Amino acid sequence: MLCQTCRDFAEKELVPIAAQLDKEHRFPAEQVKKMGALGLLAMDVPEEYEGAGLDYLAYSIAVEEISRGCASTGVIMSVNNSLYLGPILKFGSEEQKHQWIAPFTSGDKIGCFALSEPGNGSDAGAASTVARLDGNEWVLNGTKAWITNAWDASAVVVFATTDKSQKHKGISAFLVPMPTPGLSLGKKEDKLGIRASSTANLIFEDCRIPKANLLGQQGMGFKIAMQTLDSGRIGIASQALGIAQGALDCAVDYAEKRLAFGSPISKLQAIQFKLADMALALEGARLLTWRAAMLKDNGKPYTKEAAMAKLAASEAATAISHQAIQILGGMGYVTEMPAERHYRDARITEIYEGTSEIQRLVIAGQLLKEYRG
Ligand SMILES: Cc1cc2nc3c(=O)[nH]c(=O)nc-3n(C[C@H](O)[C@H](O)[C@H](O)COP(=O)(O)OP(=O)(O)OC[C@H]3O[C@@H](n4cnc5c(N)ncnc54)[C@H](O)[C@@H]3O)c2cc1C
Repeated sequence: MLCQTCRDFAEKELVPIAAQLDKEHRFPAEQVKKMGALGLLAMDVPEEYEGAGLDYLAYSIAVEEISRGCASTGVIMSVNNSLYLGPILKFGSEEQKHQWIAPFTSGDKIGCFALSEPGNGSDAGAASTVARLDGNEWVLNGTKAWITNAWDASAVVVFATTDKSQKHKGISAFLVPMPTPGLSLGKKEDKLGIRASSTANLIFEDCRIPKANLLGQQGMGFKIAMQTLDSGRIGIASQALGIAQGALDCAVDYAEKRLAFGSPISKLQAIQFKLADMALALEGARLLTWRAAMLKDNGKPYTKEAAMAKLAASEAATAISHQAIQILGGMGYVTEMPAERHYRDARITEIYEGTSEIQRLVIAGQLLKEYRG
């Protein structure tokens, strides 16, 4: 039912405008509100905090269906669910959960997550943004980079160093309302894909927030970030599945209609082999993603499986959208068809929430730990 609801929503509300949103770099405010009403912005948040009370498998299915229609909307949804609400739900106090979760479930407000910096992305433990306690307030200074939803968000989970000598163990997480004095936004990045989602720097200059806005314990920030990214990777894997499915749909539809040498190109074995490989990569990645989601839902470790899911799904999305353009020939290269957008949108899934190289490091690290016992 959930899958059908999301598919219908994407067909009706997103597919007709996705190209225009992409062209205009326009945040889909109206659609985000409707998604809030459907419960899609706080899917695994319990009902007591005004969430949908579902689980991560449901979330994965929903992100895929939304991203199949519009990958920008998929990442807006994924960041709010996994990266913003996720850590507050897991590490927040009861008071913080009521204050910082409930208003972000309906689509009226969305959140963002600020870990990366201009000088460090993969090496997240090297954060140079600092937070110092001054009486009853934390004072934040530094710049966070590449923050998804930045221009449209009403709050951010931000990571800053509270004790430099402790390196990554000296990082803490904070809840910061937006806008707030001392916090300014950088320019909107002009991106290759997912252009309807805003991406910008967050600049903290003597930004003061109440002492109570520390999320979890002091020094727990790196752990909070890493655990949040484990869940987030299931969201990005699902976004990649949606992009890949959209590209495959487009390729099959075109191959059935396009005539060459007197018959539809879908009759050519060369095209059929491409379609078979595309479907195979997609199904394999989907099973990995659902497995990671189900492990999380059952309280089992899933770090390795989430990294495998993200790696497989993002590389599948890139390969599938590449082949979709090939199947469309010249029509794959122009904006009249969605294939070129899928191709541009797919590329980011191999970069954010840990590049493919970082996923391989995570997988190998976990694998070696298992072998060594
Ligand atoms: C559109 C977009 C949205 C984003 N949204 C957010 C967001 O909401 N919040 C946020 O905090 N961040 C966000 N990011 C940042 C993103 O997570 C980082 O760009 C990503 O983690 C890579 O970091 P980097 O760009 O600094 O690359 P680098 O870390 O400089 O990496 C450069 C290259 O070196 C490789 N590399 C680095 N270290 C290793 C290693 N140890 N072994 C092998 N290879 C390595 C990388 O894989 C990559 O190929 C976003 C980025 C983009 C582009």
